[in-house]
Amino acid sequence: MSNSNILDYLNDPSPRTLGRSPLEWLDRLHKPTVIHVTGSDPSRTRAMATLLHGNEPSGLFALHRWLLEQQTPEVNMLFLLGGVYPAKIHPPLSHRQLPEGLDLNRCFKEPFEGEEGAIAHAMLAELHKAKPECLLDLHNTSGTGPAFAVTITNDAAHQALTSLFTDRLVMTDLRLGALMEYSEQEVPTVTIECGGSQDDHAHQLAYEGLIRYASRPDVLSLEQADWDVAVMRNPIRVELAPEATIEYRLEPTGQADLTFPPDIERRNFGIVSPDEPLGWVGEKGLRILTAISHNRTENLEQVLQVRDGQIYPAQAIKAFMITTNPVIAKSDCLFYAVKATGDPIF
Ligand SMILES: [Zn+2]
Repeated sequence: MSNSNILDYLNDPSPRTLGRSPLEWLDRLHKPTVIHVTGSDPSRTRAMATLLHGNEPSGLFALHRWLLEQQTPEVNMLFLLGGVYPAKIHPPLSHRQLPEGLDLNRCFKEPFEGEEGAIAHAMLAELHKAKPECLLDLHNTSGTGPAFAVTITNDAAHQALTSLFTDRLVMTDLRLGALMEYSEQEVPTVTIECGGSQDDHAHQLAYEGLIRYASRPDVLSLEQADWDVAVMRNPIRVELAPEATIEYRLEPTGQADLTFPPDIERRNFGIVSPDEPLGWVGEKGLRILTAISHNRTENLEQVLQVRDGQIYPAQAIKAFMITTNPVIAKSDCLFYAVKATGDPIF
């Protein structure tokens, strides 16, 4: 199958074709779409993927706004809009993936399973063809919270890309089949989590970051004015057992295996000390939770402890990607954690 069956292509799209709003544009898109924009220096290309998750619109909003302005970027730009199918399900921008489909951002690996695998494979072929000098992948977190970047490599180039958007960089050795693993092709690749999908700040950050990405002569070296990037290395993933139940309440009802307070998201990126309770467990205790580092299951008791039915950190930790969406909490993970210093717990 050729890529044209899987992807649509737009070259230097005119404002006429884009619709007046991102939703009008989304309405006109029918497949995952590749957009080429010619730059002042056409010998180089920078790539940006977004909407890999159909309910994470900051990148789409930023791209639509930027395309409407018709600015000539410094170099050629290659944009990849991945999750057009789930994004178009009514109401628009409410589905991470198709109801029976796979998570597209877990499909950038052999054997490129299912429809999502075919899309991922076609997107990778576009990248191989365009040979970009770098690649960004813009997402939103499912909860609210500050922006951060994720990468599998922590060097000056990855820090420079990060600093276009944020001063927090999570470095992970975990391989899940995410697009950011393209970094292994010697192309600096960073995932940007812009903040919550409903958050105007996240949309604004995506737009301002895109302007910097498209207009700077060099995005792979840190500039004086750039942020110092705080690096968090190899966070563990805390996962909930598939059969376990979770509730978000001020007090446990006794019905759920795990209860978090509704404002648990305010813990994102803050340091939680061993005397601060995070939530409550039911009769099954911590057995419903798993701590996973680099694809290995670890001893959760080095991360969390239970006293009188309440969960406390076993040592001072920094947690992030905490969500109050029970579907995400169950299907993806509950949260990530590193030591308070940013070092790995394991
Ligand atoms: Zn995402």
